[in-house]
Order: sequence, then structure tokens, then C-alpha cells
Amino acid sequence: MKGLIDIGANLSHESFRHDVEEVKARAHAAGVDTMIVTGTSVEGSRAAIAVAEGRAPALYATVGVHPHDSEGFDDAALRVLEELAQSPSVRALGECGLDYNRDYSPREAQRAAFEAQLELATRMPLPVFLHERDAADDMVAMLRDYRDRMADGVIHCFTGTRESLFRYLDMGLYVGMTGWICDERRGTHLREFVGAIPRDRLMVETDAPYLLPRTIRPMPKHRRNEPCFLPYVVETIAEATGRAPEDVARETADTARRFFRL
Ligand SMILES: [Zn+2]
Repeated sequence: MKGLIDIGANLSHESFRHDVEEVKARAHAAGVDTMIVTGTSVEGSRAAIAVAEGRAPALYATVGVHPHDSEGFDDAALRVLEELAQSPSVRALGECGLDYNRDYSPREAQRAAFEAQLELATRMPLPVFLHERDAADDMVAMLRDYRDRMADGVIHCFTGTRESLFRYLDMGLYVGMTGWICDERRGTHLREFVGAIPRDRLMVETDAPYLLPRTIRPMPKHRRNEPCFLPYVVETIAEATGRAPEDVARETADTARRFFRL
């Protein structure tokens, strides 16, 4: 496979600290030409920019505060995000959103941090990289208030139901698929309706180092996911939709280039 774009790779994660150059080389060898490095906190966003800066078109970054990190989010943090977003390597705000599955931050703090970042999105030309788990109702309600005034948005690592998928699509949002769809224990429902996502609204991502695709053969001994495993996500989507993997690769990359203005 070639020409793939991984729209969500946490390359500034500490698990890549010792070998990020090898990880990037393996990704390129596997046909992943471009990776968008996810920012998940103020410091993490700085780190994502440090990984991506000056390395376009191979690497870009996002800046945002993840719902897990939203406790303590304040105006000062928002100002830093706004400043970091001026970097030429930054192509989206986020990830930001709501996660009621883990509840690592109180829901009230999650909603406040998310709302502040949505408000920032209305003042910037950047699209938004959205995270939602078990929080679709609140997510839709909050997005509705901002949708008309923000640029595009992608629900990254979509894991929800068919119903919530269509609510997001109806709002004109994009969808990111990870190795979750490769998981025979909890991702089979995604295979049933991934074909309903319009081809110009679907993108692929690894969310590395998380979500190692369970279809990898042979399974690596370590459990760390890497962008070089993105083809397994593409293969599974191709299988589920009866399309050629090369077509899924090309179409998702075209969509990513348009969405992130690469
Ligand atoms: Zn996420």
C-alpha cells in the first residue's frame, strides 16, 4: 500500500521517546507518507509541534487539550493554545471533546474545556479534531451551538453506534477510523456500517501508541501501536466494504489532504 495518511498519531508520547526516528522510517516504508501528530495537552501540543515543525509534508501537528486532561484548563491554557495554533505545522485544533467512558476529568471540567476550545475554533480557520466516547448526546448538543461558526470537524477514533454516526454525518462532520474496527470483540458493529460513510468523509488513523490492530499477523511482542500498522485498518475497511485496499488508501488520503489543507 502507498500514499497513506495517518490523521492521528501520538508521536510525542513517551513510549516513542527512544526510537521515534525508527518509527517514522517504518511508517514510510509501510506506505504511510504523512502523519498528523496529535496534541492532547498544552505541553503535549508543544511537543507535537516540536516533532512536526519543519517536516512537512511528512509530519503535521494538532494543538488541543484532551478531555482526560481538561481538569485545570483555564484562560491561560487557552491563550497558549491560540498562540501555538499559529505555527505553520498546525493543521487542526484538538484533540478536544468529551469522554464519559473513563471520566478521568470531571464531566463539568470536560464540558468547560471543550466549550472553550470550540469557541476558539470559531475564531480560527482550522478544522477541529474531536474525541468522543460514550458522550454522544452531550457532544451533539454542544457541537450544534458551534457548528455553523467553525470550520470542519472530524470525530476521530469513532467507536459509537450507527445512530450517532448518522447524527455526526448529518452535521457535516468527518469520521476517523482506527484499529478499533479490527477488534473482533468490540469493533464488529463498525464493520457493518463503515460502508455507509460517504467516501469523501472517511479518514484513517492509528491513534498510536494505543489501539494496536488485533488483525496484525504475526502479532508484535510489544503491545505498542505504530503508524506502520495503518494498512491493517485500511485492509479491514476494504474487506468490510468490498472495495480494493488501494482505493480506500487513496480516497482516505485525498479526504485528509482536503480536510487538513495539506
Ligand atoms: Zn482520542
